[in-house]
Amino acid sequence: MALTRMDGLLREARGRKQALPGFECWDSGSIQAIVQAAVQTGLPVVFQASPTEYTYCGGPDALTAMVRWYVDRHEITAALHLDHGSTLAHVRECLEAGFTSVMLDASRHPYEENVRLTRAAVEMACDFDVSVEAELGHVGGFEGDLPELDADETLQTDPDQAAEFVAETGTDCLAVAIGTIHGAYRGKPVINIDRLRAIAGQVSQPLVLHGGSMTPDSDIRACIREGIAKINICTELQQEWLAGLDDSRKTNTISVPGTFYAPAHDRMLNLMIAKLELFASGNHT
Ligand SMILES: [Zn+2]
Repeated sequence: MALTRMDGLLREARGRKQALPGFECWDSGSIQAIVQAAVQTGLPVVFQASPTEYTYCGGPDALTAMVRWYVDRHEITAALHLDHGSTLAHVRECLEAGFTSVMLDASRHPYEENVRLTRAAVEMACDFDVSVEAELGHVGGFEGDLPELDADETLQTDPDQAAEFVAETGTDCLAVAIGTIHGAYRGKPVINIDRLRAIAGQVSQPLVLHGGSMTPDSDIRACIREGIAKINICTELQQEWLAGLDDSRKTNTISVPGTFYAPAHDRMLNLMIAKLELFASGNHT
């Protein structure tokens, strides 16, 4: 199969009351785990990488080549997405590398600047026939090199403004802030389903949930029922990977890499399969 635009996959998922996972990838091991999870479940998937992640992988061209090599050789349906591009230069280099979806996250800027930058990203992506995700409101927590912001209800997405934002920018998908957080929750998560329902009532474009890791399954089901079509998973993948390495330190010889990394790979793969099945379970009533 070939890589495809992300917005179409998300619209189809939303129509089925399902969501796709956005799994972070940063090397051949994480990419292979995503491929295996998609093959084993038969479900569509989104490969995604932030600038830090694709840089670690050798740049956007290296990541695209690797993802495309696997996708072309397997019967899987997938998009390759830039996660949290913070500049138009990030957007451009991923478009030129062959990503099929890009996120420009200008949500830390004032509203007017977010609109201006998102509109510029949409115009740029249009030339490549690639879909765009933008963020309105701000999902707090850990965001790489950027200063950490707390989950703050005043930063959550305003439903009326969301409708205005989508109309003004032409973004294909919208990431919303409704109480999830990047990284680990400090307390019990409080997910604002009423706010999500209000946004979905005004925005027909697919909605995206960032900070999906460690969000309770009951909240995930409610979010999918109310219009979330992609859920980003990163922190939990990293946790499984690191826990697998800890297992290996106790039992395996470090000089045999294939064996040493197998527990980490298997733990990450099992988590991906569980998330794919949860998000596609269709049992979101
Ligand atoms: Zn995010």
